[in-house]
Amino acid sequence: MATKYVYLFSEGNGSMRELLGGKGANLAEMTNLGMPVPQGFTVTTEACTRYYDDGQKIASEIEAEIDKYVTEMEKITGKNFGDPNNPLLVSVRSGSRASMPGMMDTVLNLGLNDEVVAGLAKLTGNERFAYDSYRRFIQMFSDVVMEVSKKDFEEIIDEMKEKKGVALDTELDAADMKEMVKLFKAYFKKQKGVDFPSDPKEQLMESVKAVFRSWNNELAIVYRRMNDIPGSWGTAVNVQAMVYGNMGETSGTGVAFTRDPATGEKILYGEFLMNAQGEDVVAGIRTPQTIDQLKQVMPQAYDEFVALSGKLEKHYKDMQDMEFTIENKKLYMLQTRNGKRTAAAALKIAVDMVDEGMISEKDAILKVDPKQLDALLHPQFEAAALKAAKPVGKGLAASPGAACGKVYFTAHEAVAAVNDRKEKVVLVRVETSPEDIEGMYAAEGILTARGGNTSHAAVVARAMGTCCVAGCGDVAIDEAGGYFTLGGEKIKEGDYISLDGSTGNIYVGQIPTVETKITGMFEKFMSWADKVRTLGIRTNADSPADAAKAIEFGAEGIGLTRTEHMFFEADRIPAIREMICSETEEQRKKALAKLEPMQQSDFEGIYEAMEGMPVTIRYLDPPLHEFLPTEEHDIEALAKTQGKTVAEIKAIITSLHEFNPMMGHRGCRLSVTYPEIAAMQTRAIIKAAINMKKAHPEWENFVPELMIPLIGEVNEFVFIKNVVVKTADELIEQSGSDLKYMVGTMIEIPRACITADEIATEAEFFSFGTNDLTQMTFGFSRDDAGKFLNDYYAKKIFESDPFERIDQVGVGKLMETAVQLGKKARPGIKLGICGEHGGDPSSVEFCHKIGLGYVSCSPFRVPIARLAAAQAALKDEE
Ligand code: PEP
Ligand code: MG
Repeated sequence: MATKYVYLFSEGNGSMRELLGGKGANLAEMTNLGMPVPQGFTVTTEACTRYYDDGQKIASEIEAEIDKYVTEMEKITGKNFGDPNNPLLVSVRSGSRASMPGMMDTVLNLGLNDEVVAGLAKLTGNERFAYDSYRRFIQMFSDVVMEVSKKDFEEIIDEMKEKKGVALDTELDAADMKEMVKLFKAYFKKQKGVDFPSDPKEQLMESVKAVFRSWNNELAIVYRRMNDIPGSWGTAVNVQAMVYGNMGETSGTGVAFTRDPATGEKILYGEFLMNAQGEDVVAGIRTPQTIDQLKQVMPQAYDEFVALSGKLEKHYKDMQDMEFTIENKKLYMLQTRNGKRTAAAALKIAVDMVDEGMISEKDAILKVDPKQLDALLHPQFEAAALKAAKPVGKGLAASPGAACGKVYFTAHEAVAAVNDRKEKVVLVRVETSPEDIEGMYAAEGILTARGGNTSHAAVVARAMGTCCVAGCGDVAIDEAGGYFTLGGEKIKEGDYISLDGSTGNIYVGQIPTVETKITGMFEKFMSWADKVRTLGIRTNADSPADAAKAIEFGAEGIGLTRTEHMFFEADRIPAIREMICSETEEQRKKALAKLEPMQQSDFEGIYEAMEGMPVTIRYLDPPLHEFLPTEEHDIEALAKTQGKTVAEIKAIITSLHEFNPMMGHRGCRLSVTYPEIAAMQTRAIIKAAINMKKAHPEWENFVPELMIPLIGEVNEFVFIKNVVVKTADELIEQSGSDLKYMVGTMIEIPRACITADEIATEAEFFSFGTNDLTQMTFGFSRDDAGKFLNDYYAKKIFESDPFERIDQVGVGKLMETAVQLGKKARPGIKLGICGEHGGDPSSVEFCHKIGLGYVSCSPFRVPIARLAAAQAALKDEE
């Protein structure tokens, strides 16, 4: 049977997301539920994939099918495309499986031309409405389909308003609208060199193509990369009969959520505008009224909307974000979807819905995006400093959290400041649009002058978990002058401001931030996650403070202590430099003797903080370039302690220079050359452990895990293990302790993966170092890949950063090989991961799938990993 590329809403249902996209599936579902949905059809995601397979062309059979469905729609609505006496007008919207900013905006009123508009005016007896609809169509179609900027049209409108001496669009009359249509069309012709297309079928087909094209625009690609959405999904196109919120004072349009998307509180939350079309509400040109005011304005429509929204929430068992239009007092539902929400709201809604008996604990676990938890764990302003600070202005509290950074006015500048100068940034815009998305991601906070709580800035920032203060009308931006004014202050580009996304307050200058406290609701939710996950969760911690923080977040052990990180502080780094720059064994032993007590006391602190939980300590792995002195005064100091001249030290530094330090004399290679390093570290680890074991006889399972990095060959491992075991056993024997310990390895070199069976005969555990494994599998330097990976995304060679998300096809295959070989040689071998991927949800899921025992990540990502592990276990059950 030939593939079916088009479905009427009445032919689909809610489970067809993959084919119809989220919007299409929900429109079908609402139709099936008997809700007042303007009817139409959905062109499938498969048609989009086919469009790309066919070299960005719509196949003639798909075009014919769309035509056929236009006829179907004409039958259903009793109206005809292009018929001035009874015109069918439609909206065209994109709709992929996951809702995605960056995709094509809606085109409304499609089907209008000079004849049809005249007919519409006659039919409705409302000339102003007809021409207002027409000028909106020209504007939207030009902008989203033909790439003629909306802004230029806005300028034409502003000029007209100025000429007429009015402030609002609604004050322009029918003659003005007619005039505007003329001006818009003339402007279009000037820009494109052709007349504005008047054939409704051509308008429709061009719009469908534009939706498909938008799937691969730069913003959509960035969004997909950040949200793990594969490029192969494609988007659907929804074509829906128009209803009109701009037919006069008994018509209107709005958006609403079934619960407060900022706090999760169970109240109907939203806004509406009378005599307006959809984009007016989100664009923030007029200030909308809150949804409860609709009760007074139009009680019947309000009651019906309340009933429908309750029904939808119960049906979908999730908070809904709905769009509606009232045409001459009649309510229509234009779309519904699971609403985006802040992390705090996500948690509250999930827990409340369990308490309300609407969903199970397991359903609740699947409702919260692990990445969102980040926002709950992020800093807030220091209370005292906040109290002392005086706000210079206030906007809408659009997305909670605290942000402090330097002001930039364009997304481009914001991204440059963050990437090139490592600055913290607050993006300040009149309003945001999808083009700003990278800047919004880069920024600590977002401030806009225009737009309500459902404006682009508010919705997108909330989803990102980024602090946002929106719609502060007092902010007057002079982009060309490089400043904005607020509350009598002039704030220049590069000046610091602070934003409170929970109150909407705006402050000039920097306000210190503090970490957030986890609430009882968080604990309750996370305990459900802990019940279902099978992966253990450890943390990467290099200090007792990090370890303590991680325990607070639910870590069950340490998967990686980077011992070289214990020497980054100014008072410690000279000792490790002395060791690196030693020329004789004697000098090195002297330097090591300085390091040993520091290490021992650090380890004792860490063991103490972990209270007997497993702790993996990795042997020194300092890439030499990170530790060698470069500053003159550091070199002088080193010369002094070594009893050498500055010139001699410089000569040593030069001799240690490596062309490729990441592949250089680091990890186990250091101890192969200088076994005394491994011996010193073993002494520090074991002495600390003996002391702890004595002090805490109750730590029954206290078995330190000694981990050798960068092993690629079993003989390297054997050589170092011999040093470790000899040193450790002597110390244990001398002390009379019954301490047990394990010696294992990191798996971070491709050769180690494919010889893992040999290594496992000697190593008691494996921990995947996926940072180096990714570096060495791709041959991309960890330090330099950032400079060129953007080209890989832009050219669609990569969809995501392999250093952030495990490349399951390549690196993942090596990991799976290592797991299988390792288990074959040593059944029951302990397996974990300690690369940065251990805190990335999709990578955690992969680790679960290949049978690792635990993941280890930085303390702040521990809750993310706990939730991701629970979700992985639940998906496995399905
Ligand atoms: C790794 O390579 O994944 C790892 C955890 O070690 P490091 O990042 O210290 O090289
Ligand atoms: Mg490594």
